[in-house]
Amino acid sequence: MINFQYTRASNVADAVRQIAANPTAKFIAGGTNLVDLMKMDVERPSRLIDISQLPLKTVDETADGGLRIGALVPNSDLAYHPLIEQRYPLLASAILAGASAQLRNMASTGGNLLQRTRCAYFYDTATPCNKRQPGSGCSAIEGLNRGHAILGTSEACIATHPSDMCVALAALDAKVHVTGPSGDRAIAMSDFHRLPGTTPQLDTNLNPNEMVTAVELPPRGFATNYTYLKIRDRLSYAFALVSIAAALELEGGTIKEARLALGGVAHKPWRDVAAEAALRGQAANQAAFVHAANLLLRDARGYAHNSFKIELARRGIVRALTQAARGTPQSQSNKKVL
Ligand SMILES: Cc1cc2nc3c(=O)[nH]c(=O)nc-3n(C[C@H](O)[C@H](O)[C@H](O)COP(=O)(O)OP(=O)(O)OC[C@H]3O[C@@H](n4cnc5c(N)ncnc54)[C@H](O)[C@@H]3O)c2cc1C
Ligand code: SF4
Repeated sequence: MINFQYTRASNVADAVRQIAANPTAKFIAGGTNLVDLMKMDVERPSRLIDISQLPLKTVDETADGGLRIGALVPNSDLAYHPLIEQRYPLLASAILAGASAQLRNMASTGGNLLQRTRCAYFYDTATPCNKRQPGSGCSAIEGLNRGHAILGTSEACIATHPSDMCVALAALDAKVHVTGPSGDRAIAMSDFHRLPGTTPQLDTNLNPNEMVTAVELPPRGFATNYTYLKIRDRLSYAFALVSIAAALELEGGTIKEARLALGGVAHKPWRDVAAEAALRGQAANQAAFVHAANLLLRDARGYAHNSFKIELARRGIVRALTQAARGTPQSQSNKKVL
């Protein structure tokens, strides 16, 4: 049994004050990841600071035509928000591809960004894991690594980031707004999560005494030509083996703008600007899509059980881009299933 204190933050400043005063405290929002981690003895916060009642539950239009999503907007409310459905259906589609309806009702936007890896060794305190206990070793590199990373790995950790929502946010070029004792700052989505390097215990560039307050979407939503393709062992309630967020802007048959981000393949959502640049100005056809897929996967490296992911990702990218170009989004099938 873990003993911990519980407090409720009365406002954002109070939440920041409380976390700054206690380095072993943790925020709790929906609790769908943190409570599991506490039950498994992976996380042992001395205090839970409940932020779930703070007024960060709205989706607001920004002056430049984008949207600002409060950190406590539940995943389900966000996916079905009319402005998200109309202007950022890629994001709605990615969220609806994740977890289950009950979990999405509880899970918050901020908590989704900060959910931890699903590597089984991370959850098993009887095994070495550099992310859980730095310096203890990585059980996955020589162990069962079917679900693990193929890009951006290190000798210390080959875990993946499990979020679907974050893959779409990376493709959409979102920004994460955070606040802490030194004030407010914004972090580009592509810089929010980290590669493991020699410090796999650090998932993000959020400082320990900072709180996520909002996620901002730029005006460009790619609402016409997009796909979130999630390849997994079961059709629902399973994390991605590989997922692809693909978004295109077309002029005639030519690609004016392209976005491509992958989930389930790295320690962070994997967006590749070189692959996107290679698509710009090209005819939207199979040859261009295969070239972009090869470029994106140029440094992919498989381990004993997950080499299949490289070809899976290659085919997935081509399929997702093809669907995006046709304007037949994957989200429709997700909605039917769910
Ligand atoms: C069975 C199961 C299946 C799932 N399947 C999927 C899936 O397929 N795809 C997917 O994307 N996700 C999936 N999830 C994960 C789920 O989406 C996350 O658990 C959820 O988004 C976390 O949000 P939360 O509000 O419950 O976070 P919490 O559990 O409350 O918190 C998670 C972490 O975030 C921190 N935190 C929370 N809010 C803030 C904030 N505002 N600022 C700073 N720190 C904060 C907490 O301190 C904690 O460390 C699944 C979860 C479960 C249990
Ligand atoms: S892959 Fe990362 S999380 Fe998994 S055992 Fe290795 S160090 Fe731990």
